[in-house]
Amino acid sequence: MTNDFETVLYDVDGAVARITLNRPEAANAQSMQLIDELDTAFDLALDDDNVRVVVLAATGKHFSSGHDLKELVGPDASPELAEQRSTPEGKFRHERQMYFDRCVRIYEFPKPTIAAVQGKCIAGGLMLAAMCDLIVASDDAVFQNPVARMSGMGVELLVEPWELGIRKAKEFLLTGDEIDAHEAWRLGMVNRVVSRHELLGAADGMAQKIALVPPMTAERIKDSVNQTFELMGKRNAWNYHFMAHHFTHNTSAALGRLAEREQMGSMKEVFEARDRGDTPG
Ligand code: ZN
Repeated sequence: MTNDFETVLYDVDGAVARITLNRPEAANAQSMQLIDELDTAFDLALDDDNVRVVVLAATGKHFSSGHDLKELVGPDASPELAEQRSTPEGKFRHERQMYFDRCVRIYEFPKPTIAAVQGKCIAGGLMLAAMCDLIVASDDAVFQNPVARMSGMGVELLVEPWELGIRKAKEFLLTGDEIDAHEAWRLGMVNRVVSRHELLGAADGMAQKIALVPPMTAERIKDSVNQTFELMGKRNAWNYHFMAHHFTHNTSAALGRLAEREQMGSMKEVFEARDRGDTPG
């Protein structure tokens, strides 16, 4: 299938659509373009009745280093985005539309989804992977959400308590420590750990099995499991967290750090390290 995407790839093989993040040079940092194209790729998978399962993968060494901060702050920031995000209200609208709603849409996507995760899966990258129904990880996968010391209250959706349990979630968020693929498996955050060269095959193999389930049955199973978590208040907890997250975006600590960055004039080194996957963001 051909399309006009620049930052994602979209392929269909039988009943399985594969949507691939394709900014390996930026460790698949999620730019606005990537988030838009990802959303459109999910539209294609939704509209194609032959597609029964979606695999969400990524090219390159890392699944995703998170949201593309380069677009938001620093010398290469988009003037439009910087303007929109210059007020608490604008920041809130931007993140609700591009981060919160777009991710929840994947969580609630009618067809089953499987994330295939390798390398670093950080902050907004973890949030994205956690929207999928299943996660297959390569044994070099590392999960981290190390934004607390930079004043961030996690990212826009608080997935950790649901993925890790209460005590590990607090440790993970407060220390910023990494969790490797095997610990993620032990904690129940990932379904399977395989070697790097087996990753896509393993995800496709699971997708082919799931594709044998009649689509309406698969949709109802997925929805019913999600409803179980609704009864525990998952969406309400997410809404609460999003508001609190935005409070911490506008604390004196957060705004002070932003001013520091502007005084520095350039975030070039930080961004370059981040794009190599050396630092979180
Ligand atoms: Zn945010």
